[in-house]
Amino acid sequence: MLSVGLIGWRGMVGSVLMQRMREENDFAGIKPVFFSTSKVGGPAPREAGEGRVLMDARDAQELVACDVLMTCQGGEYTTEMYGPLRKSGWKGYWIDAASTLRMSEDTVIILDPVNADVIRGGLTRGMRTFAGGNCTVSLMLMAVSGLFKAGLVEWMTTMTYQAASGAGAAKMLELVKQMEYLTEPTRTAPSQSALEIDQMMIQVQRDASLPTQEIGVPLAGSLIPWIDRDMPGGQTREEWKGMAETNKIMGLEPQVPVDGICVRVGTMRCHGQALCIKLTEDVPLQHIEQILASSNSWVRVIPNDMGSTLRCLTPTSVSGTLNVPIGRLHKLKLGPEYLGAFTVGDQLLWGAAEPMRRMLGILREYLG
Ligand code: NAP
Repeated sequence: MLSVGLIGWRGMVGSVLMQRMREENDFAGIKPVFFSTSKVGGPAPREAGEGRVLMDARDAQELVACDVLMTCQGGEYTTEMYGPLRKSGWKGYWIDAASTLRMSEDTVIILDPVNADVIRGGLTRGMRTFAGGNCTVSLMLMAVSGLFKAGLVEWMTTMTYQAASGAGAAKMLELVKQMEYLTEPTRTAPSQSALEIDQMMIQVQRDASLPTQEIGVPLAGSLIPWIDRDMPGGQTREEWKGMAETNKIMGLEPQVPVDGICVRVGTMRCHGQALCIKLTEDVPLQHIEQILASSNSWVRVIPNDMGSTLRCLTPTSVSGTLNVPIGRLHKLKLGPEYLGAFTVGDQLLWGAAEPMRRMLGILREYLG
């Protein structure tokens, strides 16, 4: 029986991965081994079996005993453990949520509704390292990969609205604490004056006691136009990933330029992105909608009207579902080859956990 080590299963991506694997009965027929960096010896989830405990995620002997390692622990863990494990001669399959290995030649970026051929080709060539893509890139491709495949994208800008959950469990928890802190004065001194409430809010947002240990600044009722570290040329690393990962996932040659500004907003879960796509030719909108709608089973083309947009194209309506709606589709005033669109998706599902659990399924099928 395939033994599958799970590391980082308690974090944001890891707990959604666990939830999805339970829902889809993925634990049947495998031997799961649960690791931890912080609670070694504690009780393991029930899938490990009666009385099983958490193994040490830094114990190379225990790790190499697994055929497959699935990690949602983060980039630092990957940097620390992956190289030494491979150097020790471990030939198992490594499935990772972190960005550390994504651009390495030995790694396939996994998003099978979009690049199943690349994944299967990699397996056949003996590749053993698989990494989930950046969440905004994966969600964008779930929505518009049909246009890339049809050769219709000359370049694209993505302006993102990224949820707190994209930064991990601790940041989500702090966002809620900030929300509680922010609304407290309006409960103790209620007012009907919007101006008065506004003054209260801004005061409390600027209050030094607002919890910001994790996020660094107020995010509740605000936004942060900076995600990840800086890169040469004025981009952030999150923005750099847009072009690098899109082209790698799709196997595009020559490269298609993708760039934009990535912004963290005070939503809990689900990333939104406004796209401007420069088409290679003037394609009728109806044809574009057909290409998008038929590109995979999860994309939903939302009519460009107010009712449908408010009902179907918000983080609140999409959260916890595998649907990837794309709407606001219209030709921009810039010219008939410029397409505007807005898409939203649950980045903990298609942006992180779902490609990982599906990769395990593809691997099981491949190994027979
Ligand atoms: P996370 O929620 O911060 O979890 C990572 C680890 O932090 C956990 O495994 C846990 O390790 C520890 N941890 C510390 N405080 C915690 C708390 N309050 N609750 C739960 N766990 C806590 O990180 P993540 O968002 O899942 O991201 C994991 C990796 O996936 C990162 O490399 C990230 O870049 C990547 N990724 C994330 C997303 C996303 O949407 N969040 C999307 C794509 C890729 P121990 O149990 O060992 O202590």
